[in-house]
Order: sequence, then structure tokens, then C-alpha cells
Amino acid sequence: MTNSKTILVLGGGVGGVVTANALRDRLSSDHRVVVVDKRSEHIFTPSLVWLMVGWRESEQLTKDLRRLLRPGIDVVKAEVYAIDPDRNKVLAGGEELNYDYMVLALGADLAPEAMPGYVEAAHNFYDLEGAAGLWLALQNFTGGSVAVVVSAMPYKCPAAPYEAAMLIEDALRRRDIRDRCQIQVFTPEPQPMLVAGMDMGVAVVGMMAAKGIGYHPNLPLDHIDPVGKKLVFSNGRKEHFDFLAAVPPHRPPPVVKESPLANEAGWVPVDKHTLQTRFENVYAIGDVAAITLSNGLPLPKAGTFANAEGETVAARIVDEIAGVEPRGEYDGVGYCWIESGSGSAGFASGHFYAEPDPDVSPPRSGRWWHWGKVMFETYWMGEGFRRSVARSALNLGSKIFNIPGSL
Ligand SMILES: Cc1cc2nc3c(=O)[nH]c(=O)nc-3n(C[C@H](O)[C@H](O)[C@H](O)COP(=O)(O)OP(=O)(O)OC[C@H]3O[C@@H](n4cnc5c(N)ncnc54)[C@H](O)[C@@H]3O)c2cc1C
Repeated sequence: MTNSKTILVLGGGVGGVVTANALRDRLSSDHRVVVVDKRSEHIFTPSLVWLMVGWRESEQLTKDLRRLLRPGIDVVKAEVYAIDPDRNKVLAGGEELNYDYMVLALGADLAPEAMPGYVEAAHNFYDLEGAAGLWLALQNFTGGSVAVVVSAMPYKCPAAPYEAAMLIEDALRRRDIRDRCQIQVFTPEPQPMLVAGMDMGVAVVGMMAAKGIGYHPNLPLDHIDPVGKKLVFSNGRKEHFDFLAAVPPHRPPPVVKESPLANEAGWVPVDKHTLQTRFENVYAIGDVAAITLSNGLPLPKAGTFANAEGETVAARIVDEIAGVEPRGEYDGVGYCWIESGSGSAGFASGHFYAEPDPDVSPPRSGRWWHWGKVMFETYWMGEGFRRSVARSALNLGSKIFNIPGSL
């Protein structure tokens, strides 16, 4: 069949799953959709903060990637180790894969080893084993200084360290040892969730202050002393900890950094509306993409953006294959939950492409928002009927609460 196209989706995380499913839904079976990932299991990362305080088991967060993808999508389980956009080729495992269109959704790698002392001293709640290990350790903790630290910028999910601090506080209260613990958050950022604006920062600091959690911004971490149990910051300040939960350093996947698609830092610059790279038939979405907002700050790395960008790119590729002007454009709408403990959460949404600054509402809080995230988890991990019921309920909720965008 001469007109048959192959669309290669690199990465079966949030962006890759959304893109591949949207393509399969809209393209005829003449066209091949191929997803390449080194892991066969997909992890639902928003629930890591629940795993780390015992509200979930690891199995509830993981699912065979094939079961999240529509029938008719080919899955290649292999590590991508070379990307050659000049020749429309990718090397994955022992195979050379050719494409007509490529969607790069390889995310951001975690690099705990890049922060001296991290591996020895910190609980890494950014991955499955680390979050599960944190819960085990928290149950044996008898009291002292709890530090939640952002090791370096950039990092994915700007809300996660703040959620972690509030959920640990909740867990210590449930264990009745809260009065024997001090909880502090240290970060190189000037405020929480900087890109979402000052009101957001004030609101999140306020949520933590109401729970007696200290907040220490503008503190780049130099190294961790695992023996002396000290955080050592670039300005020479030292802080003792008895229990350390830390966001690890992030880095672009090496295969991306070494490709002609990357900028100096190793991320992939794209047009913020079309997600196109400097190669016409190559798109990049999600954490691996570099988008600069009108105020000069980078679009945060979060699943909400990877999701919407995946939908946009799929729509554009479908139009391109149909020979019509591609219509899909991403408008910068995003949303996020901020779990705060006691079965409550904040929820914020807004337009990140607004000018001159993103227009993001400060979080609305309550139990409903926590249940909203539970529903989203069901929607994401569920299948068939459950999935479509959850989607309808979420869209109805969006309308009632006037949240921009829908699923
Ligand atoms: C604790 C935590 C909580 C979070 N909570 C939220 C939240 O509430 N809301 C939100 O919006 N976001 C949240 N996020 C962020 C969200 O997980 C990411 O932003 C999102 O997953 C990015 O999607 P992606 O498709 O770009 O990358 P990913 O989902 O990371 O997928 C990348 C995929 O590429 C694969 N891969 C990488 N390199 C290679 C290679 N060389 N060869 C083959 N495969 C490779 C990986 O195995 C992975 O499956 C959270 C993250 C964490 C860690």
C-alpha cells in the first residue's frame, strides 16, 4: 500500500499513550502506529504521593503498557539509543525503525546520583521503589527533623514536593507523633509553583503554614552529608535532618541530548502551539520539550501538558496524512491537584500561554478535589465502560466548576 504511513511514538508515558491512542482512534488501519518504550509497565505518577504515605500499593499504580493502548498499536519494548531525524530513522534495541512522522515523548530522566549524598541519605518519592520505601521508613520513624528538599531545577510536577510535605505531616499526625516532629521544605525556587504566579505561591505557603510546615526558598542544594545527616546549601548554610524526602535532579534522556533535535541544555525546543521541532515531521511533547512562555519562564514539566500536547499532535498528524491544513493548536491550558492531607486537596487551573503572564487561578480547596483526583486515576488506569463513565463525570465536573478544557 503506497499511501500507508508509519507514526513512531517514542515513549509510552503520559504523552506517548495519549498520542498513540488518539492516532489509532482517528487513523484507518492502513497506517501503523508504533510505540517504543524500554519499560513494559506504565506508572501513574500522580499517585506516587499516595504510595509514599500508604494510601496505595505499588500494583495499583502500575499497568502493562499494552493494556493502556488501543488494539492495533504496535509496541516495541526496547531502549532507544539513537535518533536520526535527517534519515527518518531510530535505533531501538537491535532494530532500525523507519518513520514518516515521529513523536518524541521520552520524558525527563531522574539522576539521583548527580547530587552527592542523595543515594545514601534520601527517600526518592519520584520513583516507585523510593515512594514505597519512604512509607516503610515513615512507619518506623519515631520523631525528629523531617526535611523535604528540591535538589535541583528543573523538576517535574511543581506541586509534588509541597504535596509530599503536607501528606507526610498528615501521616505523622495519624501516627500521633506529629508533636515530636518538625517539618521543613527547602528549595532553590523563590516561591512554590513560580510559573503559576505570586498568588499561587502565597496560597501554597499558606496551606503549609496552616499545618506548621516551614518553608525555605532560594536555597540551592550543594550536597548532602549522609553521615552527619546534614543538607549543605550553596551559600554555606547547613540544616540537620533525621528523615529526608527529596526530589532528585532531573536531566534530559542522553539519547535526546545527543540528537540533532536538542538545544544546549539537552531539551527539545518546539513551537509552543504546534509542538513541531525544527524537523517538519518530528514533534516533541511533554517533559522532554522546551517551551518558553511570554514571561520568559519555561512551561513546567507536568502530565497535564503532556496530555494536551499529545492530543494536539495527533490531530495535526491526522490532518497532515489526510492532506488538509493541520488545525490542532495547543492553547496552553493546564490544571493541577495539590493534595494537602486529611482527604482534602487544592485544585488550580489556567492559561499558561496568556500574555504577559500565565493566568492561573489560586487553588480552590476541599474534599471534592481529592475525589476529583481519585476519579482521574480511575479514568487513566481504567478501561472500556469505567473509562468512559469517568470521562463523562470529569467533563460534567469541569462544566460545573468552570474549569477550562475537557478530557
Ligand atoms: C511524584 C510525582 C507526582 C506527579 N504528579 C503529577 C500530577 O499530579 N499532575 C501532573 O500533571 N503531572 C504530575 N507528575 C508529572 C508527570 O508524571 C510527568 O510530567 C509526565 O509523566 C510527563 O509525561 P511524558 O510523556 O513527557 O514523560 P513520561 O511520562 O515520563 O514518559 C516517558 C517514557 O519514555 C520512556 N523512555 C525514556 N527514555 C527512553 C529510552 N531511551 N528508550 C525507550 N524508552 C524511554 C520511559 O520509560 C517512559 O515510559 C508527577 C510526577 C511525579 C514524579
